[in-house]
Amino acid sequence: MDLKEHYQKIKKILLGILALNWLVALAKILLGVITRSASITADGFHSLSDGASNIIGLIGIKVASKPKDEDHPYGHRKYETFFSLGIALLLFIIAVNLFREGFNRIFNPVTPTVDIRSFAVMLTTLLINLAVMRYELKKGKALTSDILISDAMHTRADIFITISVILGLVVIKLGAPILDPIITIIISLFIAWSGLKITRQSQAVLVDTAPIVDMKKIVDVVISVKGVKACHKIRTRGRPDDIYLDLHVQVNPDMHMETAHNISYQIENAIKKAIPGICDVVVHMEPKDRCIHSNK
Ligand SMILES: [Zn+2]
Ligand SMILES: [Zn+2]
Repeated sequence: MDLKEHYQKIKKILLGILALNWLVALAKILLGVITRSASITADGFHSLSDGASNIIGLIGIKVASKPKDEDHPYGHRKYETFFSLGIALLLFIIAVNLFREGFNRIFNPVTPTVDIRSFAVMLTTLLINLAVMRYELKKGKALTSDILISDAMHTRADIFITISVILGLVVIKLGAPILDPIITIIISLFIAWSGLKITRQSQAVLVDTAPIVDMKKIVDVVISVKGVKACHKIRTRGRPDDIYLDLHVQVNPDMHMETAHNISYQIENAIKKAIPGICDVVVHMEPKDRCIHSNK
Protein backbone atom coordinates (compact mmCIF):
# COMPACT_ATOMS: atom_id res chain seq x y z
CA MET A 1 0.00 0.00 0.00
CA ASP A 2 1.55 3.34 -0.96
CA LEU A 3 1.56 6.44 1.21
CA LYS A 4 -1.19 8.20 -0.66
CA GLU A 5 -3.52 5.22 -0.44
CA HIS A 6 -2.66 4.90 3.25
CA TYR A 7 -3.58 8.55 3.94
CA GLN A 8 -6.69 8.15 1.83
CA LYS A 9 -7.87 5.31 4.08
CA ILE A 10 -7.24 7.28 7.28
CA LYS A 11 -9.01 10.27 5.74
CA LYS A 12 -12.12 8.21 5.01
CA ILE A 13 -12.24 6.87 8.58
CA LEU A 14 -11.81 10.37 10.04
CA LEU A 15 -14.55 11.80 7.84
CA GLY A 16 -16.94 9.08 8.98
CA ILE A 17 -16.10 9.71 12.63
CA LEU A 18 -16.42 13.47 12.16
CA ALA A 19 -19.94 12.99 10.79
CA LEU A 20 -20.88 10.78 13.75
CA ASN A 21 -19.38 13.23 16.28
CA TRP A 22 -21.38 16.10 14.86
CA LEU A 23 -24.54 14.04 14.71
CA VAL A 24 -24.07 13.21 18.39
CA ALA A 25 -23.31 16.89 19.15
CA LEU A 26 -26.45 18.08 17.36
CA ALA A 27 -28.65 15.56 19.19
CA LYS A 28 -27.22 16.55 22.59
CA ILE A 29 -27.37 20.32 22.01
CA LEU A 30 -30.99 20.11 20.78
CA LEU A 31 -31.97 17.93 23.71
CA GLY A 32 -30.12 20.21 26.14
CA VAL A 33 -31.90 23.31 24.83
CA ILE A 34 -35.35 21.66 24.78
CA THR A 35 -35.05 20.21 28.28
CA ARG A 36 -33.13 23.28 29.59
CA SER A 37 -30.33 21.08 30.87
CA ALA A 38 -27.00 22.92 30.92
CA SER A 39 -24.99 19.73 31.46
CA ILE A 40 -26.43 18.02 28.36
CA THR A 41 -25.79 21.15 26.28
CA ALA A 42 -22.23 21.27 27.65
CA ASP A 43 -21.66 17.66 26.71
CA GLY A 44 -23.02 18.49 23.25
CA PHE A 45 -20.54 21.35 22.82
CA HIS A 46 -17.82 18.99 23.91
CA SER A 47 -18.81 16.55 21.14
CA LEU A 48 -18.74 19.49 18.75
CA SER A 49 -15.15 20.22 19.78
CA ASP A 50 -14.28 16.54 19.26
CA GLY A 51 -15.34 17.01 15.66
CA ALA A 52 -12.88 19.90 15.60
CA SER A 53 -10.09 17.57 16.66
CA ASN A 54 -11.03 15.26 13.77
CA ILE A 55 -10.58 18.28 11.53
CA ILE A 56 -7.02 18.76 12.84
CA GLY A 57 -6.44 15.15 11.89
CA LEU A 58 -7.76 15.77 8.40
CA ILE A 59 -5.68 18.91 7.92
CA GLY A 60 -2.66 17.07 9.29
CA ILE A 61 -3.10 14.30 6.78
CA LYS A 62 -3.66 16.74 3.95
CA VAL A 63 -0.43 18.63 4.65
CA ALA A 64 1.49 15.50 5.57
CA SER A 65 1.01 14.21 2.05
CA LYS A 66 2.14 17.50 0.50
CA PRO A 67 5.77 17.29 -0.68
CA LYS A 68 8.57 19.74 0.14
CA ASP A 69 8.76 22.70 -2.21
CA GLU A 70 10.93 25.73 -2.92
CA ASP A 71 9.61 27.97 -0.15
CA HIS A 72 9.06 25.10 2.35
CA PRO A 73 12.36 23.18 2.15
CA TYR A 74 11.62 21.50 5.52
CA GLY A 75 8.18 20.35 4.37
CA HIS A 76 4.71 21.32 5.55
CA ARG A 77 4.31 19.11 8.60
CA LYS A 78 4.37 21.97 11.08
CA TYR A 79 1.16 23.36 9.63
CA GLU A 80 -0.63 20.58 11.45
CA THR A 81 0.91 21.80 14.70
CA PHE A 82 0.04 25.38 13.84
CA PHE A 83 -3.61 24.60 13.05
CA SER A 84 -3.98 22.68 16.27
CA LEU A 85 -3.40 25.99 18.13
CA GLY A 86 -6.53 27.31 16.43
CA ILE A 87 -8.46 24.30 17.73
CA ALA A 88 -7.07 24.97 21.23
CA LEU A 89 -8.34 28.55 21.05
CA LEU A 90 -11.77 27.23 20.07
CA LEU A 91 -11.72 24.89 23.08
CA PHE A 92 -10.87 27.80 25.42
CA ILE A 93 -13.76 29.87 24.07
CA ILE A 94 -16.20 26.96 24.52
CA ALA A 95 -14.84 26.29 28.02
CA VAL A 96 -15.24 29.91 29.15
CA ASN A 97 -18.81 30.08 27.83
CA LEU A 98 -19.83 26.83 29.51
CA PHE A 99 -18.18 27.85 32.77
CA ARG A 100 -20.09 31.14 32.77
CA GLU A 101 -23.36 29.36 32.00
CA GLY A 102 -22.82 26.86 34.84
CA PHE A 103 -21.74 29.60 37.25
CA ASN A 104 -24.78 31.79 36.47
CA ARG A 105 -27.14 28.88 36.89
CA ILE A 106 -25.92 28.19 40.40
CA PHE A 107 -27.30 31.61 41.41
CA ASN A 108 -30.27 31.65 39.04
CA PRO A 109 -31.35 28.02 39.15
CA VAL A 110 -33.23 26.57 36.20
CA THR A 111 -34.76 23.17 36.83
CA PRO A 112 -34.19 21.03 33.76
CA THR A 113 -36.80 18.58 32.59
CA VAL A 114 -35.51 15.05 32.84
CA ASP A 115 -37.67 12.54 31.05
CA ILE A 116 -37.49 9.45 28.90
CA ARG A 117 -36.15 11.51 25.95
CA SER A 118 -33.12 12.61 27.97
CA PHE A 119 -32.15 9.05 28.77
CA ALA A 120 -32.94 7.74 25.28
CA VAL A 121 -30.78 10.35 23.51
CA MET A 122 -27.90 10.18 26.01
CA LEU A 123 -27.75 6.37 26.00
CA THR A 124 -27.88 6.23 22.19
CA THR A 125 -25.04 8.74 21.85
CA LEU A 126 -23.09 6.80 24.46
CA LEU A 127 -23.43 3.64 22.37
CA ILE A 128 -22.32 5.53 19.24
CA ASN A 129 -19.24 6.80 21.11
CA LEU A 130 -18.40 3.29 22.31
CA ALA A 131 -18.66 1.89 18.78
CA VAL A 132 -16.57 4.77 17.38
CA MET A 133 -13.87 4.25 20.00
CA ARG A 134 -13.55 0.51 19.34
CA TYR A 135 -13.56 0.92 15.57
CA GLU A 136 -11.01 3.74 15.67
CA LEU A 137 -8.67 1.84 17.93
CA LYS A 138 -8.83 -1.25 15.73
CA LYS A 139 -8.22 0.72 12.52
CA GLY A 140 -5.55 2.86 14.18
CA LYS A 141 -3.59 -0.23 15.17
CA ALA A 142 -4.04 -1.88 11.77
CA LEU A 143 -2.86 1.26 9.92
CA THR A 144 -0.33 2.29 12.67
CA SER A 145 -1.85 5.76 12.67
CA ASP A 146 -1.05 8.01 15.66
CA ILE A 147 -3.87 10.34 14.75
CA LEU A 148 -6.48 7.58 14.89
CA ILE A 149 -5.11 5.99 18.07
CA SER A 150 -4.89 9.28 19.98
CA ASP A 151 -8.36 10.25 18.80
CA ALA A 152 -9.69 6.91 20.05
CA MET A 153 -8.12 7.60 23.45
CA HIS A 154 -9.83 10.98 23.47
CA THR A 155 -13.18 9.37 22.63
CA ARG A 156 -12.67 6.97 25.52
CA ALA A 157 -12.22 9.89 27.93
CA ASP A 158 -15.39 11.45 26.54
CA ILE A 159 -17.37 8.32 27.27
CA PHE A 160 -16.75 8.94 30.97
CA ILE A 161 -18.02 12.49 30.66
CA THR A 162 -21.23 11.26 29.01
CA ILE A 163 -21.65 8.62 31.72
CA SER A 164 -21.28 11.32 34.38
CA VAL A 165 -23.95 13.41 32.63
CA ILE A 166 -26.30 10.40 32.60
CA LEU A 167 -25.65 9.72 36.30
CA GLY A 168 -26.27 13.42 36.91
CA LEU A 169 -29.64 13.13 35.16
CA VAL A 170 -30.61 10.35 37.56
CA VAL A 171 -29.72 12.54 40.55
CA ILE A 172 -31.54 15.55 39.05
CA LYS A 173 -34.58 13.35 38.54
CA LEU A 174 -34.33 12.32 42.19
CA GLY A 175 -34.58 16.00 43.13
CA ALA A 176 -31.16 17.67 43.16
CA PRO A 177 -31.14 20.05 40.15
CA ILE A 178 -28.04 21.83 41.54
CA LEU A 179 -26.01 19.00 40.02
CA ASP A 180 -26.77 20.26 36.51
CA PRO A 181 -24.66 23.45 36.73
CA ILE A 182 -21.97 21.66 38.73
CA ILE A 183 -21.51 19.00 36.05
CA THR A 184 -21.50 21.81 33.47
CA ILE A 185 -18.61 23.50 35.27
CA ILE A 186 -16.68 20.22 35.54
CA ILE A 187 -17.10 19.61 31.79
CA SER A 188 -15.92 23.16 31.04
CA LEU A 189 -12.76 22.44 33.05
CA PHE A 190 -12.19 19.22 31.08
CA ILE A 191 -12.49 21.12 27.81
CA ALA A 192 -10.09 23.84 28.99
CA TRP A 193 -7.67 21.14 30.06
CA SER A 194 -7.62 19.51 26.63
CA GLY A 195 -7.06 22.95 25.10
CA LEU A 196 -4.11 23.43 27.44
CA LYS A 197 -2.70 20.03 26.51
CA ILE A 198 -2.87 20.80 22.79
CA THR A 199 -1.22 24.20 23.38
CA ARG A 200 1.60 22.65 25.38
CA GLN A 201 2.36 20.01 22.76
CA SER A 202 2.15 22.51 19.90
CA GLN A 203 4.39 25.16 21.42
CA ALA A 204 7.03 22.49 22.14
CA VAL A 205 7.23 21.65 18.44
CA LEU A 206 6.98 25.26 17.24
CA VAL A 207 9.89 26.54 19.39
CA ASP A 208 12.07 23.52 18.48
CA THR A 209 12.08 21.78 21.86
CA ALA A 210 14.29 18.69 21.50
CA PRO A 211 12.06 15.70 20.72
CA ILE A 212 14.90 13.35 21.71
CA VAL A 213 16.59 14.04 25.01
CA ASP A 214 18.40 10.76 25.57
CA MET A 215 21.38 10.90 23.20
CA LYS A 216 22.90 7.57 24.23
CA LYS A 217 21.22 5.55 21.50
CA ILE A 218 22.25 8.06 18.82
CA VAL A 219 25.85 8.13 20.08
CA ASP A 220 25.96 4.33 20.05
CA VAL A 221 24.72 4.17 16.47
CA VAL A 222 27.18 6.83 15.26
CA ILE A 223 30.19 5.36 17.07
CA SER A 224 29.45 1.94 15.61
CA VAL A 225 30.08 3.27 12.07
CA LYS A 226 33.58 2.26 10.97
CA GLY A 227 36.07 5.18 10.95
CA VAL A 228 34.20 7.35 13.47
CA LYS A 229 36.30 8.40 16.47
CA ALA A 230 33.79 10.52 18.37
CA CYS A 231 30.66 12.62 18.05
CA HIS A 232 29.16 15.59 19.90
CA LYS A 233 26.83 18.62 19.58
CA ILE A 234 23.87 16.41 18.72
CA ARG A 235 20.71 18.47 18.25
CA THR A 236 17.19 17.38 17.38
CA ARG A 237 14.05 19.33 16.58
CA GLY A 238 10.63 18.86 14.99
CA ARG A 239 7.52 16.78 15.48
CA PRO A 240 8.07 13.33 17.03
CA ASP A 241 7.21 11.79 13.65
CA ASP A 242 9.32 14.28 11.65
CA ILE A 243 12.61 14.82 13.47
CA TYR A 244 15.57 16.81 12.10
CA LEU A 245 18.96 15.95 13.56
CA ASP A 246 22.42 17.52 13.22
CA LEU A 247 25.70 16.59 14.85
CA HIS A 248 29.50 16.87 14.77
CA VAL A 249 31.46 13.74 13.91
CA GLN A 250 35.21 13.36 14.38
CA VAL A 251 37.44 11.20 12.19
CA ASN A 252 41.18 10.77 11.63
CA PRO A 253 42.76 14.11 10.53
CA ASP A 254 44.41 12.49 7.48
CA MET A 255 41.26 10.75 6.24
CA HIS A 256 40.54 11.16 2.53
CA MET A 257 37.63 13.48 1.73
CA GLU A 258 35.89 10.77 -0.24
CA THR A 259 36.03 8.30 2.68
CA ALA A 260 34.78 10.95 5.09
CA HIS A 261 31.93 11.75 2.76
CA ASN A 262 31.00 8.05 2.55
CA ILE A 263 31.06 7.81 6.33
CA SER A 264 28.66 10.73 6.65
CA TYR A 265 26.23 8.90 4.39
CA GLN A 266 26.55 5.72 6.41
CA ILE A 267 25.87 7.68 9.61
CA GLU A 268 22.79 9.24 8.10
CA ASN A 269 21.38 5.88 7.02
CA ALA A 270 22.27 4.12 10.27
CA ILE A 271 20.53 6.80 12.38
CA LYS A 272 17.40 6.83 10.21
CA LYS A 273 17.21 3.06 10.39
CA ALA A 274 17.78 2.82 14.15
CA ILE A 275 15.49 5.61 15.33
CA PRO A 276 11.99 5.93 13.89
CA GLY A 277 10.76 9.47 13.31
CA ILE A 278 14.11 10.88 12.19
CA CYS A 279 13.70 12.11 8.63
CA ASP A 280 16.79 14.25 8.12
CA VAL A 281 20.42 14.08 9.35
CA VAL A 282 23.11 16.71 8.76
CA VAL A 283 26.67 15.62 9.62
CA HIS A 284 29.42 18.16 10.30
CA MET A 285 32.78 16.39 9.79
CA GLU A 286 35.91 17.43 11.66
CA PRO A 287 39.39 16.06 12.44
CA LYS A 288 39.69 14.30 15.79
CA ASP A 289 40.04 16.57 18.88
CA ARG A 290 39.89 19.72 16.81
CA CYS A 291 36.43 21.08 17.26
CA ILE A 292 36.66 24.86 16.93
CA HIS A 293 33.16 25.53 18.24
CA SER A 294 33.43 26.87 21.77
CA ASN A 295 30.33 25.48 23.51
CA LYS A 296 30.52 21.70 23.89
ZN1 LIG B 1 -13.64 15.22 23.84
ZN1 LIG C 1 32.69 19.91 16.88
